Amino acid sequence: MFNLENIIRENIKSLKPYSSARDEFHGEAGIFLDANENSLGSSVGNYHRYPDPMQLSVKQKIADIKSVTTPQIFLGNGSDECIDILFRCFCRPGRQNVIICPPTYGMYEVSAGINDVEVRRAPLNASLDLEIELIKSKVDADTRLIFICSPNNPTGNILNREVISELLQSFNGLVVVDEAYIDFAGDEGWLPSINNYPNLVVLQTFSKAWGLAALRMGMAFASPEIIQVMNKVKPPYNINGASQEIVSKALKDQAAVNERIDILCIERERLAASLAQLEVIEAICPSAANFLLVEVNEGDIYSKLVAHGIVARDRTSVMNGGYWLRITVGAPQENDRLIEVLQKIKNQH
Ligand SMILES: *Cc1c(COP(=O)(O)O)cnc(C)c1O
Repeated sequence: MFNLENIIRENIKSLKPYSSARDEFHGEAGIFLDANENSLGSSVGNYHRYPDPMQLSVKQKIADIKSVTTPQIFLGNGSDECIDILFRCFCRPGRQNVIICPPTYGMYEVSAGINDVEVRRAPLNASLDLEIELIKSKVDADTRLIFICSPNNPTGNILNREVISELLQSFNGLVVVDEAYIDFAGDEGWLPSINNYPNLVVLQTFSKAWGLAALRMGMAFASPEIIQVMNKVKPPYNINGASQEIVSKALKDQAAVNERIDILCIERERLAASLAQLEVIEAICPSAANFLLVEVNEGDIYSKLVAHGIVARDRTSVMNGGYWLRITVGAPQENDRLIEVLQKIKNQH
């Protein structure tokens, strides 16, 4: 049986979190002399006060859009901070382990390395999907987190729902479903299930569909009990005031976001169809994200693209044979140019 108490690190259980000036005062006041801020302000805007450490105003808007409650939301300085905080809350360094399903997002392993936590690999199968028995065979009493990226980066596919559901039911640690690309998938993903599984953590981000990568804001959704542990560990002011302000503004116009998502999904299909016509392309993975993983017929396509001013991501090293590029779906003219350049590259043969 999953029991949250059994997986929280002992030092975190007994931790007395930092209590900031803004945590300790609740109420109305006109004169703030509690936080050693600069009472005269700054020359670039209204940023002289520390921001809300619990980001309640942003969280309320997210809660409305996502149909969750604010105690089910944790905000990180990018999803990358959410990932790191999960390690720090639940994995004892040098002792406990996590499972990843490569090829997948690189930060799980980096974050594990930083936290001195063992990574166990249960690679995706030939259909680039989860292999339930393999994953289960890697689990032991010290396994704390299983990272599932869906749609997966770099393969672009949604991973098997039944397998994830079986893991949620059988695993006594947390199943972390990273949905950075879910808005491009036309799939409700796992967020509507957070009330059904006490060990489910869903990660989403403002970096992709919302077009706000520079602001660094990621979301973790889970039970209020899990979120409370994460809140205890986070730096008090991990989300800066400017980001809270601008994300709040973006959240008021979901229609504009949906419009861009629609365009990018149309472009994804158009790009895939055009790429399929090209001699240099061996295979295209069906994608539910805003990128395409493609197999190319030679290893130096990457540098040939660079020579034409186009940067794709070389993913050859994470695949089992063949030459692979992960190509982000660009703006329409960028995609046109990419196709044009790839055609030119072919003609040079
Ligand atoms: C891009 C991406 C993220 C986003 O990370 P941020 O820190 O929120 O920018 C998270 N997970 C995956 C799989 C990604 O590809």
